[in-house]
Amino acid sequence: MKPALFEYSAPQTVAEAIALLAADPGAMVLAGGQSLVPAMNLRLASPSRLVDIQHIPGLSGISVAGGEIIVRALTTHRELELSGEAHRANPVIREAMAHVAHIPIRNRGTVVGSLCHADAAAEMPMVLVLTGGSVVAEGPQGTRTIGAEDFFQFHMTTSRESHELVVEARFPVLPAGAGAAFDEFTRRHGDYAIAAVGAIVRLGRDGAADKVAVATCGVGSRPMRLPAVEARLIGTRLAAEDLAAAGEIAKDAVTAPDDINATTSYRQRVVATLVRRVVEKAAHRAGQGR
Ligand SMILES: Cc1cc2nc3c(=O)[nH]c(=O)nc-3n(C[C@H](O)[C@H](O)[C@H](O)COP(=O)(O)OP(=O)(O)OC[C@H]3O[C@@H](n4cnc5c(N)ncnc54)[C@H](O)[C@@H]3O)c2cc1C
Repeated sequence: MKPALFEYSAPQTVAEAIALLAADPGAMVLAGGQSLVPAMNLRLASPSRLVDIQHIPGLSGISVAGGEIIVRALTTHRELELSGEAHRANPVIREAMAHVAHIPIRNRGTVVGSLCHADAAAEMPMVLVLTGGSVVAEGPQGTRTIGAEDFFQFHMTTSRESHELVVEARFPVLPAGAGAAFDEFTRRHGDYAIAAVGAIVRLGRDGAADKVAVATCGVGSRPMRLPAVEARLIGTRLAAEDLAAAGEIAKDAVTAPDDINATTSYRQRVVATLVRRVVEKAAHRAGQGR
């Protein structure tokens, strides 16, 4: 299919892009086009105007400062995946990124585009939630920072206003002494997750976990932390019975209905298994000083 008719603009500055978005509530930002263009071709999206941000200087690049990995809006998945500086600051990003689509798509698609697209089964939104990250949005009224938990509201729905441009994402660096891990289950490599789990674990001097963050995606209407799972694990030595109990608790987070990929009960079993494996791997890495 072909897309519906639309106007096209290629602004040269962030201010120009914001003015174009503010002037037309039906306008949409075009970044790498890896999600928006297929959606337009399928007529799932019919923007009145595309505001193509690819030609705006200064919107690319990755830096690590103030305890955060700052990913500018035009940075592709692949650039972040291959960044040694980002990997040293938080290795869970590269581990998760290997599951995002395929390399040709990661070469064109942007990290911020993935966050703004907000597919409930997408990996990078979940990593932003797991790490406690945020996005920076610029609009006619100025700039605001939106925490991940407030940004992702529902499948393909964020708290971004239609006249706002997200200029960067900020992923916190891994806390000192912590280990992190990510894993997911899909029917084919490169597909969106049937279920994915990420974890960050830090062990105290006595070997008990004094910090645990666990997040999941693919099993509900948005990526989410699992506070009941974290509470069950904090203060324990993450023995087999602790991990098994945490996995059972994680089943409660699954709200996705049966679909062509999996039933709800299948997703529950997958997420329980992933919680056990991923938390164990993160703890092992914490013990190794990674
Ligand atoms: C075959 C295939 C398989 C895929 N598999 C996966 C997968 O397994 N996991 C996964 O996570 N993704 C997957 N994707 C999606 C891919 O990751 C996209 O690159 C990404 O979702 C969107 O990035 P983009 O730069 O292409 O954004 P675009 O397609 O240009 O835009 C996506 C949305 O975000 C908005 N947007 C983009 N940038 C901004 C901004 N700076 N400010 C405000 N709004 C903005 C757009 O208006 C649009 O609504 C797949 C895509 C394809 C085609």
